[in-house]
Amino acid sequence: MLANIADPDASQPIVTQDGAATRAGRFRLEPDGRAEAAQRRRLQRDLEEATRENAFVLHYQPRLSLATGETAGAEALIRWPHGKRGLVPPAAFIPLAERTGLITAIGGWVIRTACAAAVHWPPDWTVSVNVSARQLDDNALLQQVATALAESGLPPDRLELELTESMLVDVSLDTLLTLSAIRDLGVGIALDDFGTGFASLAMLKRLPLTVMKLDRSLVRDLPGDREDAAIVRAVVQTGHALGLFVVAEGIETEQQRAFLSGIGCDEGQGYLFSHPVPEQLLCKPRGPMSDHAAIRD
Ligand code: C2E
Ligand code: MG
Ligand code: MG
Repeated sequence: MLANIADPDASQPIVTQDGAATRAGRFRLEPDGRAEAAQRRRLQRDLEEATRENAFVLHYQPRLSLATGETAGAEALIRWPHGKRGLVPPAAFIPLAERTGLITAIGGWVIRTACAAAVHWPPDWTVSVNVSARQLDDNALLQQVATALAESGLPPDRLELELTESMLVDVSLDTLLTLSAIRDLGVGIALDDFGTGFASLAMLKRLPLTVMKLDRSLVRDLPGDREDAAIVRAVVQTGHALGLFVVAEGIETEQQRAFLSGIGCDEGQGYLFSHPVPEQLLCKPRGPMSDHAAIRD
């Protein structure tokens, strides 16, 4: 597409892709690709600045025991408050942060901030932090975790790192050593988004995991879908047989909660209990799961 070519009324402001109004010349050719590249460069500059200034926020989504309904901890989920774009979700900037290497600094900030928050939570709550493949590759992770724990005073067994199964398909020896060293500190290691198609049973055996998080695609059609119900039942049993704690993501209905609780899934997370919320809205005192209902970001 050509933007603004032979514009019938060149005196009118033209709204460009990022919403800015310009009075571009009548015959300026602006193929989509160039506009997109400019937009990408702008986004990257903004992200570099945000990284320098730690201009991100963490929202937290509670994780509940399915047996008791009590909160057992929360997952930290990053958001980027952007002047023009609003509260940008992670899917819109984490891939760019990974490509540019900014994820190392951003990830370090996430771990420090989550540990500093969690130390004020009830002493039996854990905090989970998502980690990108790039963070595992660049050798900074172990030091970042150790420093965050030392600075915050958070007991290591109250921190858990979440790694997605896709990033663990080809685990190098270095990665394995890093994960083992982090596990040796006492920090938990969760396999996130389990069931999205990459994890093998060998991987479950080889990695120093403590938690398996069932992806919400496995939870979505429960309990009505007989195949999914059978798969989830088998996965929970396998997780337990391997000594892992099993957490279900994306629980949105009471029927899903009841099914997962009935088959012995340990904990759950999802909109049924709470959307991710700013830390001050996380219900810190112990309470029934209805405390979290209808809280959203
Ligand atoms: P994730 O770690 O699997 O996090 C769960 C995602 O599912 C979150 O999206 C959460 O808001 C959403 N969710 C929770 N409950 C429900 C539900 O009941 N239904 C539905 N439909 N969705 C639900 P969010 O916050 O947009 O995060 C997306 C992904 O971005 C995360 O997936 C994680 O992989 C990544 N991410 C988030 N924060 C960070 C971070 O600090 N560092 C890195 N490297 N990645 C992050
Ligand atoms: Mg996660
Ligand atoms: Mg997940």
